[in-house]
Amino acid sequence: MNVLDRFRLDGKVAVVTGGNRGIGRAIATAFAEAGAAVAIAGRDEKRNERAVAELVAAGADAMAMRADVTSRADLTALRDGVTERLGPVDILVNNAGIGIHGESLSLSDEDWDRVLATNLDAVWKASQVFGAAMVERGAGAIVNVGSMSGMIINRPQWHAPYAVSKAGVHHMTKSLAAEWAPHSVRVNAIAPGYTKTEISDIDRPEYRHYWIDEVPMRRYAQASEIAPAALYLASPASSFVTGEVLVVDGGYTLW
Ligand code: NDP
Repeated sequence: MNVLDRFRLDGKVAVVTGGNRGIGRAIATAFAEAGAAVAIAGRDEKRNERAVAELVAAGADAMAMRADVTSRADLTALRDGVTERLGPVDILVNNAGIGIHGESLSLSDEDWDRVLATNLDAVWKASQVFGAAMVERGAGAIVNVGSMSGMIINRPQWHAPYAVSKAGVHHMTKSLAAEWAPHSVRVNAIAPGYTKTEISDIDRPEYRHYWIDEVPMRRYAQASEIAPAALYLASPASSFVTGEVLVVDGGYTLW
């Protein structure tokens, strides 16, 4: 097999949470270009529809379902809906996430709960809901979107709940990878650095020094530069890789 063929996802069914914009959308597009049938899930139905329309216009087999990843019932309905329309899910990308900045002494219990519920608890729930079917079939790949924030402490913004949630995602990735490896279900993560999307305050002048000048590559990423790392971990190209957290940060965590 040609090595490039190992990156193809022909005949595979992929679900990307938070696939209607940003990094998730870039991943959904990349997977569709690699030949997968792709389902995206988010809460904003208009954005879901727009993203799917673009994928379909580009020739992809694509669908969207409204789902709040914090709801186990929504995740179960998503798995069942996608399985019915596209077939059993081969690839799950746990990408949906939120971030809030704030000094720790100013954050409320609600702030903590909201970030952890979306960024960590939801990854656990989705991994159980989709992972159960993968373990039963003896095949599957889960790619979690962690963050370099799960490895280092960012400056100048404070966001302890976010950082903790992403560190948890990385360790959950390793835990589930070890547990499900005998069932041929691989679990990996990507840890992006600063990437231009709606979640990131990337163009704020007061962040420039820390977020751009201190990056060895002296720039932030486009979402399209993150997607190929997810494709590698989702595809047969990484068939012997599990429990890995692949950093894609322009060198930020090197210092
Ligand atoms: P965006 O804000 O652009 O997109 C977030 C996506 O998540 C949206 O599609 C949103 O859809 C979805 N989402 C949020 N909450 C929920 C929910 N409860 N249920 C379902 N979907 C939800 O963010 P990014 O693309 O920047 O971030 C994507 C991932 O990458 C996140 O996990 C983030 O932490 C991570 N990351 C981002 C970095 C960056 O610099 N941008 C750096 C490192 C990691 P909707 O609102 O319709 O529900």
